[in-house]
Amino acid sequence: MERQTIWHPCTQMKDLEQYGLIRAHSGKGIYIYDEQGKSYIDAVSSWWVNLFGHANPRIARAIAEQASQLEHVIFAGVTHEPARRLADRLVDLMPEDISRVFFADNGSAAVECAMKMSYGYRRNTGQAERNRFVYLTNGYHGETLGALSLCGEDLYTELYGPIMPRNIRAQGPDCFRCPYGRTRDDCACECFEHMERILEEQASEITAVMVEPLAQFAGGFKFYPPLYLKKLRECTARHGVHLILDEIATGFGRTGTMFAMEQAGITPDLVCVSKGVTSGTLPLSAVLTTDEIYGAFYADYTEMKAFLHSHSYTGNPLACAAAVETLNIFRDDDVINVNRAKAAHLRKAVEARFAGHPNVGEIRSLGFICAVELVSDPATKEPFDWKARTGYQIYRKAVERGALLRNLGDVVYFLPPYVITEEQIDELADIAIASVTDVLGE
Ligand SMILES: *Cc1c(COP(=O)(O)O)cnc(C)c1O
Repeated sequence: MERQTIWHPCTQMKDLEQYGLIRAHSGKGIYIYDEQGKSYIDAVSSWWVNLFGHANPRIARAIAEQASQLEHVIFAGVTHEPARRLADRLVDLMPEDISRVFFADNGSAAVECAMKMSYGYRRNTGQAERNRFVYLTNGYHGETLGALSLCGEDLYTELYGPIMPRNIRAQGPDCFRCPYGRTRDDCACECFEHMERILEEQASEITAVMVEPLAQFAGGFKFYPPLYLKKLRECTARHGVHLILDEIATGFGRTGTMFAMEQAGITPDLVCVSKGVTSGTLPLSAVLTTDEIYGAFYADYTEMKAFLHSHSYTGNPLACAAAVETLNIFRDDDVINVNRAKAAHLRKAVEARFAGHPNVGEIRSLGFICAVELVSDPATKEPFDWKARTGYQIYRKAVERGALLRNLGDVVYFLPPYVITEEQIDELADIAIASVTDVLGE
């Protein structure tokens, strides 16, 4: 028997006794090929990172050229062209007041940086008592302890409560099961009252609010209206609280605009980006912020105000080169506009197959994402018993049928690379409904 030395992420290793692992050998476009040559549609863009397909020739070339010139160099006291070009391009894509870029190497690290920048600003400006963060139910910001302390989903956090910083959870939007009986398209974001109360009562101890704009991914693909963000921006500004937008998953076109914040027309104090920034080829993240926050760290060395935070692979030239080429593709191929018709097709293809199924609670879409929440009874929105692992069974069936359609609880979601064609979308939707039928019947 082959040795099993690897401990896989987000996996109960015992499950592998039953199903084993997909042995990925190569990839091309939306497909992953295993060692036997069987193909799988990458329906989740390899954990939401891939934009332009596997083994994309343009990005592969950019990485190869950079690798033969300069693969990596310390980023303290040294700069290089790929990083400078990327930083300028990112700033150009942001609202006007966002002017500074700090690089890190994964999403959680960017979240930690943003938290430390926000609190560092307080320390450096005589407001050290503002030392807590507010986050939303169903929010997700990564797995390291600081990021995890802003995670509004007990599944991820409960075990580690005793070793995490204590931050403040605010009841956030829940549009599918709206307690106010409103709908996403017709509401005044009444649910903002919870956040508003916390900011009114506790602002003097709060440094920042962190949210995923418009779409909570890991919390179950929950989408909420831009109005919530407008209210949040107004209210945080009024109370002198920073607004940190985690655009790690929403960024780079996934919600239909380059960044989700554009749909609310707001300017945050700090923004985290990662995932799609390199089109899923290399790990890279960045925190972008204002001159005001940057300025609070700018002083004579002996004032001890510098932002002393670093990661070994900060500003990695290969990753920066991949990211610059990713942004070139956005520009050359008019990706945001071209995606619109494809995203509409994705929604139609899923609706056509799922709308009549007796376990469909809601089909929701936003930009290049379509999610189907399966429930035991759509009339009451009663979920399935979690122990039945309904979504997981569907995922297993889909893998057999040739699609990597990873579930999130009982939400089956479609988040393919942008290079998918309309025919491939239909093929994927066919596999999905067949897999649902395998598990739940017609
Ligand atoms: C994935 C994700 C993160 C964490 O990024 P990693 O690179 O996995 O550490 C943080 N925030 C959001 C919204 C994410 O989707």
